[in-house]
Amino acid sequence: MGKNRTKRDRLFSLYASNLSIYCPHITDQFLCPICLRLFDRDALICESPEITLAHIVPHSMGGHLCTLTCRKCNNDIGFDYDSQIKNEKNLYDWEKGIDKVCASLNYDGGNVPVYLWHTTKDNYFSENSNIKLDWVNLREPSYQKFIRDLRTSENNAIQVSITTKRLYDRKKLEISLLHSAFLMMFSQLGYEYILSSNADGVRRIILGRKNSENWREGVLYFPITAVPNYSLPFIGVLIEPREICSFYVALPFTRTDKRVRIVILPGFDEEGKNIYDRLLEVGKRESKISYKLVGVPNIFRIDGVIHSLDNSKHAGFGKWLWTRYVAEI
Ligand SMILES: [Zn+2]
Repeated sequence: MGKNRTKRDRLFSLYASNLSIYCPHITDQFLCPICLRLFDRDALICESPEITLAHIVPHSMGGHLCTLTCRKCNNDIGFDYDSQIKNEKNLYDWEKGIDKVCASLNYDGGNVPVYLWHTTKDNYFSENSNIKLDWVNLREPSYQKFIRDLRTSENNAIQVSITTKRLYDRKKLEISLLHSAFLMMFSQLGYEYILSSNADGVRRIILGRKNSENWREGVLYFPITAVPNYSLPFIGVLIEPREICSFYVALPFTRTDKRVRIVILPGFDEEGKNIYDRLLEVGKRESKISYKLVGVPNIFRIDGVIHSLDNSKHAGFGKWLWTRYVAEI
């Protein structure tokens, strides 16, 4: 049996038994956390399995931690949105001079594909910035035509312009972050979170059925020194300011290791409702907000018993966590 197949089997069993805790009439089935479709164990066996491993942080960003989703959700949402994160990284790598971006050199006679390199440490908007241009392919007919046109032009001069495509779509990127964070909650808290009433709103944003512009306020950026010192990604609770208490998932940021993205997710019950609207209100009102974030280690102790978050076996851990940090403040 392949390594992935073994991993899928193991996760299927884990999630199926976790699901039975919340839905006792369902046994040995997997519920996709995004589209809420149910799958039998058979869905693991066919040639192209209906249930697939989904990376929580995209593989292209070095993510190793996996959970399960149905194939359709993984293909439609996972791949499409996660490419935005890869492209964002490409842009920052370009800024630092360690990668190129694709561009087009345009003139009256046509367009030639080129690469642009940023070769100085300064911000590329500064006066000292240098941009180096590489031809993509010297055999390219458009390049050869450009050289011919240049040779036959008056004074050997042609006026050109350079354009690049917008590398990523910010809205898609943000949904990708919410998607990653939601999968992380599934991986750590199981169906307790996925089936909670406030998780529905998150699912609707991910599936594009709810156009919640305010949700964008749900991605915060912190210096790595300002967040709990656990290896990324990890989950936690934002406990201050009091009115925006919420769960969060800390995700790596592409630019350097010095900043962390904190993706806010609704908590349980009334407290968790309309969290994105409240975040927006607090952001408008306060110029400087002082946040207090607690993190949850992978291994923790409740009443003297050691638990590990990775197995989703314990029921009620999410509520325990929420009550401990929020309801009792
Ligand atoms: Zn699905």
